[in-house]
Formats: sequence, structure tokens, C-alpha cells
Amino acid sequence: MKVATWRGGDNITIDEVPTPNPGPGELVMKVLSSGICGTDIHKTQGLFPADPPDILGHEFVGPVVEVGDGVDEKFIGNVVACTLNPACGQCQGCLTWSAMHCERNKRYSGGFAEYVLVHHRQAHVVPEELDHEIAAMAEPLACVISTFNMIEVEEGCDALVVGGGLLGLLTVGVLKLRGAENIILSEPNPQRLSIGAQFGANYLNDPTNQDLSELVDDVTGGYGVKVGAEAVGIPQLVANVSKLVRPRGNLILIGVSPQGSSLPVDLYDLHYKEITVSGAFGAGDAFAEALSTLPKLDFSGVVSGRFALDETAHAMRVSASGDGVKYMIAPWD
Ligand SMILES: [Zn+2]
Ligand SMILES: [Zn+2]
Repeated sequence: MKVATWRGGDNITIDEVPTPNPGPGELVMKVLSSGICGTDIHKTQGLFPADPPDILGHEFVGPVVEVGDGVDEKFIGNVVACTLNPACGQCQGCLTWSAMHCERNKRYSGGFAEYVLVHHRQAHVVPEELDHEIAAMAEPLACVISTFNMIEVEEGCDALVVGGGLLGLLTVGVLKLRGAENIILSEPNPQRLSIGAQFGANYLNDPTNQDLSELVDDVTGGYGVKVGAEAVGIPQLVANVSKLVRPRGNLILIGVSPQGSSLPVDLYDLHYKEITVSGAFGAGDAFAEALSTLPKLDFSGVVSGRFALDETAHAMRVSASGDGVKYMIAPWD
């Protein structure tokens, strides 16, 4: 089978490797759709810790083609979407925090490949009526839902999302579903802004020509938003959002800032405004909830392009450019 191997920097090669065989508890799936995530791009830019060679891609969907010992054969033919790691369900990390903190996680290879080997505990059957490309967004949606499962969104509250990439847009969508009333999305790309409106944002801000803090003041009567989410991964933007959060509000890190970066805020403000800062580690335990939430959001126009596996390097560059929203690798189209 063919795989796209990341070899460091932006170097990705297409290689022929043996198709995997499932061991006990494992299954092999044929990859129909594999989303390019900001984290994949950050890895190639040295902004997210990773060691090449590696096969990237962790948002993949496709039918099960083979199962190993201990996995029910009725799985074969089912389209499944997968979490990032199998999680044992028994260790301190799994039991106390979330599947992402499992202490026994085995690292499987990624989804920019024709076939992929996973553990059956990672695989969630996709409902038949759900489009497989949309199902591939269960993983990023789970990241957002996991974040919001750790805080309370007050019914009717005001919220701000800075950054309209897929995670920012999904943040808008989840805020809307959880009862936020005034949702401000700040993003320079007009196409992303219009999808933000589709997901529930009712105030759109292009920060290149409109002052965001004025808009927040207007919408919130000068108090600031209850929930301020940064969905880009730039520490200075996180700091800017913190200034727009009202007393006892939440500052939420949706974007992944580079490892080693620090937050350029006046801690005095956080202290006296009694602001809660929170992040989330991947999908947490929210994957199944994400699959059932996907049909509640209108994904039309979200996928901006599909690329063959051979074009993975090019697809990564296009995805990194900031145009469009979500790009997919579709190995079999
Ligand atoms: Zn991701
Ligand atoms: Zn565990």
C-alpha cells in the first residue's frame, strides 16, 4: 500500500510499504477521508513536538477491511471514525482524567495512507446516514466538546471566538448548541466568517479593518464576554482575548500555542477579574458525543479541497496558506 511519510520540515515522500495485518484486538481500515489538521502542519513547521519519520493525519474515516483475534467479524464493512489512541480504560489516567491521558497508550501510525491499523477501542461506527467526510471531523469536534465539558456555558451568555479555522468554527457551533446568545467571531478570511455565521456567530469581525474591542464593548455593554476562546495558537492573541473577558469569565485555549511559549498577560488582571483559564488535551472522552453532534451542524462549504495521497505535500502547503477552511486527503478518489 501507499503511505505519505513525513521526513522532517516540509519533506513528505510517497512510499510503498506492506499493508498492515491486524494483531489481537486490532483492525485494518481502508482510508476514505483523512483531514489535514493544524497540528499536522505545526509539526512540519517545528511548532508542535514530533519526530520524523512519521505518517501524519489523525482525523480518518473508512470501512473496516480486516479484524484481528478478539474483534467481532461483524465490524468488517462498517465505516468507522477513530480517536487518536486506544486508551486502556483501566489506568489512573483513563479512570481519573481522560482517554488522552492513558498511561499505556500504544502509538499507531497516521491516516495519510491507503490503509491504517488501529485498535478496536479507537474505532467508532459511523451512522449510515452521516457523510464519511463529515464523520472525519468527529475528532476535531471532540476536541472542542471536550473543552466545553470542563466548563459551564451559561444559557444566553456572550462569547468571543478569535480565529475561524475549523476549530474556531466548531467552537462557534458548540457555543451556539450550548446556549450562548451573542457569539462574536473574529477572523480576517471572509469565507471563514460566512461559515462562522452558518455555525451560529451573530457578530462577525474582520480584525484587519474593524476594532474588535469596540465591538465586544458594544455587544456586552462594556463588561466583556463570559467566554473568550482563542483558536489560532498565538500567545499574543490569547493575551488579547483575556482583556475582553468579563469578571469571572473563561479564557479558553482552543488553538495550540507552540511548546515553550508563555502568556504575555498582566497576571494582576487575571487575578482580580477572577478569570478561569482552561485548555483541553485532544478529544478527551468526547468522541462518541462528537459523532452524535455532527448532524446538528451545517457543514456545507467547510471542505475547501480534496487531494490524492500522492499530493499530500502540496495539500499541506495549501492547507497552511490560510485560504479556505478544511482540506482532506482522499486516497481512493
Ligand atoms: Zn487534529
Ligand atoms: Zn489507560
